[in-house]
Amino acid sequence: MRAILVAALAALGFLVANTSQATAGDPIKVDIYKGEVATVNSYIFSNGKSQIVMDVQRATSEAKKLAATIKAKKLPLTHILISHGHPDHYIGMDWLLKEFPGAKVVVANKDIKQDIIGFSTWMESVGWLDAEPALKPKSVKNPDGFDYEKNISVLEGNTLEFDGGGALKLDTQYKPAESNHATTVYVGDLNGLFASDFAYNKVHLWMGTGVTDEHIRNWRDQLATFQKKYGSSNPTIYPGHGNPGDMSLFAELIKYIENFQRITANATSREMAITEMKKLYPDYGEADFLLKNSVDFHVHD
Ligand SMILES: [Zn+2]
Repeated sequence: MRAILVAALAALGFLVANTSQATAGDPIKVDIYKGEVATVNSYIFSNGKSQIVMDVQRATSEAKKLAATIKAKKLPLTHILISHGHPDHYIGMDWLLKEFPGAKVVVANKDIKQDIIGFSTWMESVGWLDAEPALKPKSVKNPDGFDYEKNISVLEGNTLEFDGGGALKLDTQYKPAESNHATTVYVGDLNGLFASDFAYNKVHLWMGTGVTDEHIRNWRDQLATFQKKYGSSNPTIYPGHGNPGDMSLFAELIKYIENFQRITANATSREMAITEMKKLYPDYGEADFLLKNSVDFHVHD
């Protein structure tokens, strides 16, 4: 009897092991490409058979280095996932598509696609794309421009599957905050939350044009929701900008937002608000761009 039971369990174990191997692939790993421009992160996921990259930098010069990093791993790149419609996360996609013609640019919903198109259209209108002419939108006037409509696919459902097994779990149920629409990714194999621009680590937060007082309150509330949701599993937090951190990052971000709200509400000049924020956060990066634009939008001289 015992022998039969052992044999049966062994057979069952074999079956379970085989099935999980067939469907789950190797555990998902991640490498971080840390951009120099705007300290923005690209996350290169792999299941040992193929790769998916999340966010692809603000400049083509950075995308070239990112592409070389991906190529060095000698695994096919299947997807370029853009987490939200801000240019520091998508400008590099033109170069990546040239380097990896088999890869597909994907976003989690049609709102994010529209955010990207809207942002690029606006950037072109103010001359910001003169430095990145390949990203100027395709139009009657500019037939050789970037075809956002054709090149960006909207995913169905909230998983992004790897070639060779396994998937990224995407979440988009968020109110407008740092961006109007955003995607986060949770990877169980890593116990890692890829928080996109809900999280910055030792980099000033973007609260510039478009990030209204209401959006800032939504952002703060969402950070508190993350604290509750992930408190017991204690994942590593992979931010959009800056180094990975632990759950204490959320408390630090909430404090930052509350300080920014108080200081900008009470400041009698932009200069005063910037001085006070810099005093509280002397080691935070991107003060000249991110902090300056955020204060300009929220303090009226
Ligand atoms: Zn960003």
